[in-house]
Amino acid sequence: MTKNSRIVLYQPKVDYWPYYPCYWAPLSLLSIAAPLVNKGYNVEIIDGNVNGSESLIQDTLSDPEGILFVGISTMIGGNQIERGISFGRSIKEVNASIPVIVGGPAGTIIPERLLECEAFDAIVRGQGEIPISIIADAITTGKDLSGIPGVVTRQCKNVPIPLLVDKNTFPPYPWEIIDVPSYLRNDPYTGDRTLNHVSSQGCPYRCGYCSEAFTCQSKWSAYLAERTFAEVADLVEKYNLTGIKFYDSNFFASTSRVKKFAMMIIESGLHVKWSASAHPKDIIRIADDMSMLKKSGLSRLLIGAESGYQPVLDYVEKGTTVEDNLTVARICAENEIPAAFTFIVGFPGIEGDINPTLKNVIEMKEISPEFDVKIHFYYPFPGSKLFDRAVEHGYQEPKSLLEFSGNDYYLIQTPWLDRHLEEKVRSFGDFYCDFLYPPQWFTDLLSQKPLSALSYKALRQIARLRVKFHYYHFPFEKGWFQYVTKHNSFERGDYHERYNDADAKGVCN
Ligand code: SF4
Repeated sequence: MTKNSRIVLYQPKVDYWPYYPCYWAPLSLLSIAAPLVNKGYNVEIIDGNVNGSESLIQDTLSDPEGILFVGISTMIGGNQIERGISFGRSIKEVNASIPVIVGGPAGTIIPERLLECEAFDAIVRGQGEIPISIIADAITTGKDLSGIPGVVTRQCKNVPIPLLVDKNTFPPYPWEIIDVPSYLRNDPYTGDRTLNHVSSQGCPYRCGYCSEAFTCQSKWSAYLAERTFAEVADLVEKYNLTGIKFYDSNFFASTSRVKKFAMMIIESGLHVKWSASAHPKDIIRIADDMSMLKKSGLSRLLIGAESGYQPVLDYVEKGTTVEDNLTVARICAENEIPAAFTFIVGFPGIEGDINPTLKNVIEMKEISPEFDVKIHFYYPFPGSKLFDRAVEHGYQEPKSLLEFSGNDYYLIQTPWLDRHLEEKVRSFGDFYCDFLYPPQWFTDLLSQKPLSALSYKALRQIARLRVKFHYYHFPFEKGWFQYVTKHNSFERGDYHERYNDADAKGVCN
């Protein structure tokens, strides 16, 4: 093997604004880089989200000397595929013999579509950590990539997604090859020096709208509690972190692992706040240990409640009940753990979910107005169980790679959803829900403005009637709210201001 051959790993910029206030460290690239760095390859990372990445791309194109191959990690949507195509083509223009390999969720779900791009030589399905070293060695020795497990080429297209491999067998991320401080964020829940991390892959659940269930075949693999703790402690010490945001699909799938991890933090005296996402059933299973988790630094949970209509929960195979949603809300409120609950409405072939879901949201807000609640419209994720059902009901599947690339899953693309219902959900979810059950910052503001507090009392009664009768025309309460707060929505309270602070420092672009 030729040591120190250059390998360029590229993550195209994601069009995340305005849905996400900032981007995070490119963990998928770090994970792929780890085994390559261990083998002595010289790995260069280009994160398209970072200011200045354009000049890195130009530097790479003007000096392609010694590049063994280029790896591109891309999701479907967010225009990442389009940018990946552009970079792949530019590489081929400067040196057609440099192989371009594509992976990430798009590689796993639509490998054959990706091969429609002439600049892409091979596609990796599933975890890339194992095939990436085999690919590097094969290219070094001039061998064909066809036949490597999980690798799709034009000669070898019928390749299944390999079974999930134990994540503990993978080496730690080589954080030193990226500029970690530039990825630290001022998170309102976990503190001003927060870094993202991932401790598991996959998810054992089978929710029909989620492509994770397909890509990982409802399997889950996680670092042991000991490794999770050791990595967190190391990052806290090296980068003086205040918080870790776990972006695992399901951090809580093993409650014994979470308990052990939390106990290790407490026993070590490590000062760090952490947040993660969970399935409602897992929170119910770990309810008795919630105060211990809080003591360890748990400062926010993201929970997929999904619906307040039992037939929908059954239809999407969530494995929960409407009552479970409320039980989880009570557990979080009793333990004073900030939580965000997400809901989805408008599934194909099932109606009548909107009113019960809005009712469930109100019940949660009555438990604690501090909960964040987001109501999304169903989007057919390629690879999910419900995708074909959506097509049967009139959803137009993207026809080309560029259509896949530009798909915006925050826009409603399901023809069966009545526009009237859409307006109702948006009015309620984007404004009236929080107006009726305002977060603390708004209550504090009113306590300093007695006249505004009086007006609010009257307007709240009107808002109550609106929600009861689903009448959202002439929303004059919004104008009043903007006037009093100088904000356009509740989302632009303290939470977003602090993220925008990162923007002001030029951290986010
Ligand atoms: S929605 Fe969440 S809990 Fe359900 S399969 Fe996907 S990752 Fe798992």
